[in-house]
Amino acid sequence: MGKIMDKIRVAVSGAMGRMGREVCRTVLATEGLQLVDAFDSLGNGEDMGIFLGMGETGINVRQLTPKTLGEYTPQVMVDFTTPLAVMQNISVALRGGVRPVVGTTGITEVDLARIGELVQKSGIGAFVAPNFALGAVLLMKFAATAARYFPQVEIIELHHDQKIDAPSGTALKTAQMIAASRPQQTIQREELLKLPGVRGGLQDGVHIHSVRLSGLVAHQEVIFGGQGQTLTLRHDSYDRNSFMPGVILAVKKVITMQGLVCGLENILDQ
Ligand code: NAP
Repeated sequence: MGKIMDKIRVAVSGAMGRMGREVCRTVLATEGLQLVDAFDSLGNGEDMGIFLGMGETGINVRQLTPKTLGEYTPQVMVDFTTPLAVMQNISVALRGGVRPVVGTTGITEVDLARIGELVQKSGIGAFVAPNFALGAVLLMKFAATAARYFPQVEIIELHHDQKIDAPSGTALKTAQMIAASRPQQTIQREELLKLPGVRGGLQDGVHIHSVRLSGLVAHQEVIFGGQGQTLTLRHDSYDRNSFMPGVILAVKKVITMQGLVCGLENILDQ
């Protein structure tokens, strides 16, 4: 008979949000994982299962504090909250010996360096990814390849109208990967802008345009321009469940991780 493996004990912060709900549902339905806690600033003790329409689970949604996090001894905390809350949540998790898997976007380079320090002090592992969808990660890789051959590029990212941060973390990362891969930066021409911001924002010399509309989930187009031709790469997440295989993979990997790992692309092939 095979060895019975212990389940990975998972807490979710931002559990009542759009992504958090999906993560809780998925953890509850995934073999080898156990949802042990749910945190949300809206949490008032309600049963997470009942909130999800899945029946009673005995897991009550509470506020995240060092004390509440310690109570049911999670090993991993998945965080899909807000740019304002995420750093404090990561700090609480790492100080409590709980490995964070972070999907919240709006994390800056300075924040990442700070997370790196906290991770080092904690002696455990942590994982951060601006996009958990396989297709989006592949799009970034393909964009980095195309950037070696096409001199000009612009990014259009499109999200639902409730998204707080702009541009998306994925768009920023895509621009950074393009900049790192292309032989030289294109020279920005002088332009006559009749509306402020009409050419989008610039990251590493790449124009990024953010669209926010209800009906959308998460979408990105990268358009390359070359002599007499364009190349368009596009990825669409039509449903938040598109992020779940990536989240579950990260939860399983972070358990044995040492230090901070950023980006789904760094755990896909291992
Ligand atoms: P959302 O629906 O607003 O959910 C965020 C939830 O977190 C809300 O319920 C919010 O409560 C709660 N929250 C706020 N502060 C908290 C705290 N200190 N502790 C615990 N919970 C807290 O947003 P969403 O659409 O789920 O997106 C969440 C984040 O994930 C965003 O940053 C988004 O960009 C990101 N995202 C990442 C990926 C990826 O693949 N990496 C994919 C999709 C989305 P209140 O309503 O009280 O603030």
